[in-house]
Amino acid sequence: MVDLETLDTATSAIVLTVGIVAFDPKTFATLERHHFVLQLAPQEARGRTKSQDTMKWWAQQSEEARTAAFGGARTPIETALDEIAEVLFNTAGVWGNGASFDNAILADLYRSFGRQQPWPFYLDRCFRTIRSAANDFDEPPREGIHHNAMHDAVHQVRVLGAACKHLNLEIR
Ligand SMILES: [Mg+2]
Repeated sequence: MVDLETLDTATSAIVLTVGIVAFDPKTFATLERHHFVLQLAPQEARGRTKSQDTMKWWAQQSEEARTAAFGGARTPIETALDEIAEVLFNTAGVWGNGASFDNAILADLYRSFGRQQPWPFYLDRCFRTIRSAANDFDEPPREGIHHNAMHDAVHQVRVLGAACKHLNLEIR
């Protein structure tokens, strides 16, 4: 499960942070948690974008969420892209929240730096679609900080598990 925090909702968005959670597709147990804080200037130099609306939206988020996204040390972009590629190597599926959001933006980030996205396009999976199909089900209570990329990804795995159970759906 991948969750991005960004400065835009367009595919060209500057990416602040990337949360990735590896999970067991049968039990939905979390196996690994990763949180990458990306360098911003090289993204801007490559023409990646920020929007006024998203900046305004960030100003309204919690102090904790903003600290996770904007504060602290940032990993050089090429190093981060290498490390993310390593995490996604041999994945069975890359889940994101929205067919046009996390996966599309992350793929486009690789493209901006002249690199291939580190997973084949046919392994793109949309969490938002499953959640919507399950419609009326008991979502697990939210834990962690809203809009902390890793905490969001952890929560989405738990919601995906509950939705699949509700739909009697098996994923791989
Ligand atoms: Mg998020």
